[in-house]
Amino acid sequence: MLYSLFAPITSISGIGVKYANNYANLGITKVVDLLWHLPVGIIDRRNKTTVAEAKNGEIATLYLEVDDIVLPKSRKSPTRVVCHDKTGNIVLVFFKVFKGFLEKYLPVGAKRIVSGRVDFANYGLQMAHPDYIVANESEMPLLETIYPLTAGISLKMMGKSVEAALSMLKPLPEWLDAEFRKRQGFPDWSDAVKLVHHPKTMADIDGANPSRRRLAYDELLSEQLALALLRAKKKKLSGYEIKGDGKIRRKVFANLPFKLTDAQVRVLKEIEADMARSSPMYRLIQGDVGSGKTVIAFFALLNAVESGLQGAFMVPTEILARQHYAKLKPLADIAGVSICLLTGKDKSSQKEGHLRAIKDGTVDIVIGTHSLIQEGVIFNRLGLAVIDEQHRFGVHQRLDLKAKGASPDILVMTATPIPRTLALTAYGDMDISVVDEKPKGRTPVKTVALPLSKLDEVILAIKRAITAGAKIYWICPLLEESEALDVAAAKKRFKELSDVFPEQVGLVHGKMEPAEKDKIMAEFADENSSLSILVATTVVEVGVDVPIASVMVIEHAERFGLAQLHQLRGRIGRGSKESSCVLMYGDNLTSMAKARIDIMRKTDDGFKIAEEDLRLRGVGEVLGTKQSGFPEFKLANIATDIDLIHTAAKDAQMIVETNPSLSGERGEALRVLLYLFEQDKNVKLIRG
Ligand code: ADP
Ligand code: MG
Repeated sequence: MLYSLFAPITSISGIGVKYANNYANLGITKVVDLLWHLPVGIIDRRNKTTVAEAKNGEIATLYLEVDDIVLPKSRKSPTRVVCHDKTGNIVLVFFKVFKGFLEKYLPVGAKRIVSGRVDFANYGLQMAHPDYIVANESEMPLLETIYPLTAGISLKMMGKSVEAALSMLKPLPEWLDAEFRKRQGFPDWSDAVKLVHHPKTMADIDGANPSRRRLAYDELLSEQLALALLRAKKKKLSGYEIKGDGKIRRKVFANLPFKLTDAQVRVLKEIEADMARSSPMYRLIQGDVGSGKTVIAFFALLNAVESGLQGAFMVPTEILARQHYAKLKPLADIAGVSICLLTGKDKSSQKEGHLRAIKDGTVDIVIGTHSLIQEGVIFNRLGLAVIDEQHRFGVHQRLDLKAKGASPDILVMTATPIPRTLALTAYGDMDISVVDEKPKGRTPVKTVALPLSKLDEVILAIKRAITAGAKIYWICPLLEESEALDVAAAKKRFKELSDVFPEQVGLVHGKMEPAEKDKIMAEFADENSSLSILVATTVVEVGVDVPIASVMVIEHAERFGLAQLHQLRGRIGRGSKESSCVLMYGDNLTSMAKARIDIMRKTDDGFKIAEEDLRLRGVGEVLGTKQSGFPEFKLANIATDIDLIHTAAKDAQMIVETNPSLSGERGEALRVLLYLFEQDKNVKLIRG
């Protein structure tokens, strides 16, 4: 039924290899891609008007009589064709035009229908290079659809290709619920596709148009249905039923320097309930920076260890891996749990030892970077895999870690707060827990913004802070990019600060030896060391936890995005000490940069900041990128179709509950929908 739509576009007559290559630049390779290539505007020539009523800057279609042709005096000036109707005169303006052309199309005395953009300019009312000059109305399309184009593809060509694709449409069985379709006023699928490509007014281009919404809904439903089917399939898999006896956890609990927050306890309960089930857990923990996700993960890992299984804890940076290891090792030791660190920078002899211990099962918990998912890493009996700061990893890395065990439980953690509805599309295949409370006793971070020209004042203030015993992060934009962008290189700043504060400054950046980094981080974290200022690149952005640090200076704060600023600032305000953050900005702030800095000054609530980020940059900008982990839609718009996302998610869930095998008339139609949006790549549509 759909084969012809999935044929290469060269199956359309008139599209050869050369055009196909040009089309590929627009992501159009198959016939169906032409259907999904939506118009962005129309040219409306129905405005048949008179010279007197023609409006400046608008397209007008005029019935004119040619009076005179005025040839240019120099080659730089245009040829003018003076015309009139019964209401007035208008000048048609042509640059570089052949005399023969004018004699043929605009001979003096002829009556013509002329369409194009009218302007009041040098020659009074004028029309430069009309789009159409015809003798009969039938020779001119009254409505033209405008598409996004690329080099080598003209509007005419695109229009013809789309029409050819439309002519291959066959009616498909209806996959939407009849009642819902009626309520929404959605047309039939093939009618919707045709209507979308033949807009009559600008309102038809708008996302609120029923045909557009229908297509958007179809795309969203196909995606949500695929996710729901995946979820259902996962629930059927059998994994370990992990129900530790609590012995190890009690020991660790007794040695924790704090009480868990209510949110931490609640989320842990949700995790334990998942782990106890025979189907593998697939859960996302969402919690703002500093909400205490690490300890939650650790207790989940210990639950696995109590059940005789291994746990893996994957983090995006080496600094973070080392920090987690340093924090968790003493607690693990107390409880008699064996824990090891695996990073890409390990010496080979050491690494071999670790790999052996992971394979023979003598190691209980492994903390590591991407190196955890490399081929040589073989677990004896992996029960739980935790992925910290998941937004830093791609989906395939999530799945690779999963492949390390029979069907291990998976826990992913993120500090990126996402509105609930949007989470449905990004993480629709996962269950979600939210840590919506921060540990008590934190004092909010005071944030000020200053121009870089006030550096001296900032240094004075830092002097006072150090005397009072403060530890300070000094953040410089990334080293590699710094030269080109003329930012203060971290090394240079390190030297300058060292001159003012001898023996009190340390430097960490991505290019350093791990041992050196460890040493400096440890010194910085040590209350009794003289190292008070840590000059760092954004390597400290994710996860780094030095609770005694209470001041952060961010140089060229305007070069960072909101999410990144929030992450960076999240490194301070972790203790009971009053913390301050100084955002230093360069000259020529854009209004966007200014707005970002303002928001940072006003709030430190991650959800609010994320919302503002969405508002400032637009949902598409924030979430429509590959990096964000969100799917990219062809027809739907995550900014404006939120209500549809919600409905599609509910609809999909209901379908999977009532008709998991997609049988019967609607089931068959839904399969067609899944094929149409190529979701069969994600779900195997096995019968029964
Ligand atoms: P994040 O959620 O950003 O990963 P962390 O797990 O790094 O946060 O925790 C931030 C800091 O809060 C750490 O120093 C941690 O030891 C501390 N912490 C975690 N839970 C609590 C709690 N319930 N009470 C007090 N401090 C806590
Ligand atoms: Mg963390």
